[in-house]
Amino acid sequence: KVRTRFAPSPTGYMHVGNLRTALYTWLIARHAGGTFILRIEDTDQGRLVEGATEVIYRTLAECGLTHDEGPDVGGPVGPYIQSERRNLYGKYAELLVERGAAYYCFCEKAEEDSGDWDRAEDPCRCMSAEEIQANLDAGKPYVIRQKIPHEGTTTFHDVSFGDITVENQTLDDQVLLKRDGLPTYNFANVVDDHLMGITHVVRGSEYLSSAPKYNLLYEAFGWEIPTYVHCSPVMRDQHNKMSKRHGDPSYEDLIAQGYLTPAVLNYVALLGWAPKGERSEQEIFSLAELVDAFDIAGISKSPAIFDLAKLDYFNATYLRALSAGEFAKIAEPYIRQSVKNSAIDIAAVAALLQARCEKLTEIPEKVDFLDALPEYDVSFFTNKKSKTDSAISLNMLREAIPALEGISIWSQEAVHDTLIALAERLGVKNATLMWPVRIAVAGKLVTPGGAVELCHILGRDETLRRLRFGMK
Ligand code: GLU
Repeated sequence: KVRTRFAPSPTGYMHVGNLRTALYTWLIARHAGGTFILRIEDTDQGRLVEGATEVIYRTLAECGLTHDEGPDVGGPVGPYIQSERRNLYGKYAELLVERGAAYYCFCEKAEEDSGDWDRAEDPCRCMSAEEIQANLDAGKPYVIRQKIPHEGTTTFHDVSFGDITVENQTLDDQVLLKRDGLPTYNFANVVDDHLMGITHVVRGSEYLSSAPKYNLLYEAFGWEIPTYVHCSPVMRDQHNKMSKRHGDPSYEDLIAQGYLTPAVLNYVALLGWAPKGERSEQEIFSLAELVDAFDIAGISKSPAIFDLAKLDYFNATYLRALSAGEFAKIAEPYIRQSVKNSAIDIAAVAALLQARCEKLTEIPEKVDFLDALPEYDVSFFTNKKSKTDSAISLNMLREAIPALEGISIWSQEAVHDTLIALAERLGVKNATLMWPVRIAVAGKLVTPGGAVELCHILGRDETLRRLRFGMK
């Protein structure tokens, strides 16, 4: 039975790469009808951020990546917060010492710093049993280190990277248990994955280099090695990983920038995974469709570049797919940012925007003219395609004003029919009349919707006021 876990360290935000790991991990479990577990890896107390765990719960819930076991929902193999498991690891480290796969190290070198550690020179590695006992009896502080063979190689298998073999001499005798009796990150991770019955370990490829040491630990314990799925980094460009520190957006940033959660998830799913078979051409996936289509074999080992333009495209597709009512509801706060006039019909404005925006944050700027006519230039009245220039345009406005004044009930249809009839009477192309009317009421070259729609939304008085102003 498949059991996967998402094991974030609470940093205070959700990286796009982390979100992708969470998504793939969840999908593997759901596709197989298995169990998805949330484990909070907060052993690095120095890096703890207030409220950071909340961000994780909130993001998973918003994205629909529900967990079956975790700190907040409980489960049979808890606790699910690593700091609450701190006393559990010591006996496993001792077990490895008994089996000759780890050793007490009484040296005074910095315990975490394996960088300049030279195990060949570590006297503790081959200390006699008596000597060890004497040190222990004397109450000397110690760490427990993994005893990695000096010779030979270690091979591990990863689903997308295949078999990877490393020379054991390149691996360091990493610390498993620190002087204070607490585990190191790498040790807790292995013990927890085993105790929690994890079958598939999905994580970033930055952990690839630790995998051989993990394997040696599993072997020494006699535990079954899980299936490893290392995911390549999400890149900003050819050479650089995305990084919050360098200004790349986190999940929350993307939402704040006006992207929809399902669009982000859809795009992120395809960053490093591709559907196969009859779905190989499909781009738009609901979460349910992803559950159905997701297979581990489709995960790629080449790094994926995060392309905002592509995300815009996904987002526009999702915005268009909403019902008019749903769209109006989510667009309203953005429309209200620039349209304070309560007489404006928000649903009508939303209807114009739905097919014309890629993200919600574009909205305020697109509709600002509804509140206040921007300063514009007479050159705006000149347009070749509409066969008009400023002289013709002013003439058109002069004709349009009395025609529109004659409308008794101001509706979109009435405005439309009146202007079309006027163009016919004047013997001009519709565009020759519509262009200056649109410019005069909006003061902008680019508007969501044409003259008829804008006049309708602005209402009779405001439309006429703006048309008269346009003639000045
Ligand atoms: N806690 C690690 C991280 O947030 C995850 C490690 C793992 O999944 O094995 O990067």
